[in-house]
Amino acid sequence: MGRPDVQVVWFKRDLRVRDHASLTAAVDTGAPVLPLYVIEPSLVAHPHTSPRHVELVLDGLTDLRESLAALGAPLVVRVGEVVAVLEDLSTQVAIEAVHSHEEFGILATWERDRAVAAWCRGRGVRYLEHRQSGAMRGLTSRDTWSRQRLALFNLPLHRMPSAVRPTAVALGPIPEMRDLGMAAETMVYRQRGGERAGREVMRTWLTERIPGYERHLSSPVSGWSGCSRLSVHLALGTVSAREVHARVQARKSEPASPRFSLNAFEERLAWRDHFTQKLEDAPNIERSALHSAFDSLRPATANTQALAAFVEGQTGYPMVDAVLRSLAATGWTTFRMRSMITSFASYDLWLPWQESGRVLARWFTDYDPGIHWPQIQMQSGVTGMNALRIYDPVKQQLDHDPTGEFVRRWVPELRDVPDSLLATPWLVATDERHDYPDPIVDHAAAVAQAKRRIGAVRSQIRGDGSTRALLERHGSRRPPPARRRR
Ligand SMILES: Cc1cc2nc3c(=O)[nH]c(=O)nc-3n(C[C@H](O)[C@H](O)[C@H](O)COP(=O)(O)OP(=O)(O)OC[C@H]3O[C@@H](n4cnc5c(N)ncnc54)[C@H](O)[C@@H]3O)c2cc1C
Repeated sequence: MGRPDVQVVWFKRDLRVRDHASLTAAVDTGAPVLPLYVIEPSLVAHPHTSPRHVELVLDGLTDLRESLAALGAPLVVRVGEVVAVLEDLSTQVAIEAVHSHEEFGILATWERDRAVAAWCRGRGVRYLEHRQSGAMRGLTSRDTWSRQRLALFNLPLHRMPSAVRPTAVALGPIPEMRDLGMAAETMVYRQRGGERAGREVMRTWLTERIPGYERHLSSPVSGWSGCSRLSVHLALGTVSAREVHARVQARKSEPASPRFSLNAFEERLAWRDHFTQKLEDAPNIERSALHSAFDSLRPATANTQALAAFVEGQTGYPMVDAVLRSLAATGWTTFRMRSMITSFASYDLWLPWQESGRVLARWFTDYDPGIHWPQIQMQSGVTGMNALRIYDPVKQQLDHDPTGEFVRRWVPELRDVPDSLLATPWLVATDERHDYPDPIVDHAAAVAQAKRRIGAVRSQIRGDGSTRALLERHGSRRPPPARRRR
């Protein structure tokens, strides 16, 4: 082997060729490039990973291999742990640098990245982590966060290379699910992964679907096409958040653009990074409460009957069950519906948030740890810095499914219940009963008890400065929105 020159571009949650900092930097060296994706058995078996996540990655790999082939260097795919794969590749080519994106993920990926960095150090290989997220390492103050984020987002996009010099390394097959010891999930619908699919979603969103976005944000019915549906693609990096941002700016400058909707959408793109920054600044957030006083609030292990009712969508609250069943079958719902089911798990069922969060992580096709765990904690009342958000499932049904279209679709046992009783089917006369369970808990009583328990912890920490410290570290610098009844 000659002087080390090969540039490994290690793809992770950045399965695209456009606005790809690592790829552009590697190609700019003029050296041969080895584009690599490693399917890691330890992550495939991780409790947060479900078969639908793996299928989405496989969609992305097929697409990426084609795009890179068109540039001259198709994607190399290996199954194994990353350090072992790099070690093996280093016996075939002389690696000068490993480029990857700076990932804000779970503890397991953080440890994995450290191991890769250590391997590179040990081998004298440069390890370059390129930014793609508005979250940042080593943030010292939230006061300047927004400005720093925009500075990255307003930089020109990375140009897509016109050609990539290949190496002679064998490509390796893209495995099928069964090769990974998994069966594809039977789903009613699953969003397609891959850059091509992502770009089409972005195109239809910004050119056709975005007007009126703010009206669809909560509805599990109209949100299906009235929200962007970019979350899967942002989570796997099959579209670049910076490119979405740039296209939003371009759209805003057009005459008669739907500015209100564009602004609302742009704000949510910023929330994505705001929450991810919390994960970066509190990396244990998938395990421990942001405020440690709330760590022993709920039991460490879930009540099996309550957890089973949640997983099976048999809680006796039609809107909750419809959302849970639809998630299992499609992998997506709106923000408000995610909040409602998390609130139900955490306050009504008093389940440990780590457990319900894991169930939801596996269902959400867009599982993105940087958004997920901070949101799960916020909707479970354990951050020590946010107002309690407790959702009334009956009110949510009346507000967001007034005709019963959504509930009747996912809870067909209630198909014949009249509209007037659909949100409270336990009131149906016994001689006209349906085959649907009574509520597993009394919402009002469960919530009153939850509030008492949380209030007790809050009074212990009141005035001790801990909330102020958390707000200083993690709090948004925007004024809080006006209070609404949920
Ligand atoms: C308990 C809970 C868990 C969640 N877990 C995830 C998750 O794992 N992955 C995920 O992508 N989103 C998560 N969300 C946030 C939000 O519900 C989804 O981003 C959104 O519903 C995805 O659909 P969309 O792409 O059509 O969103 P749009 O409304 O079109 O928003 C565009 C993008 O902005 C970001 N975004 C939107 N809302 C939020 C928000 N409230 N906080 C942070 N970022 C936001 C997402 O990247 C989203 O794709 C969670 C919300 C809750 C309450």
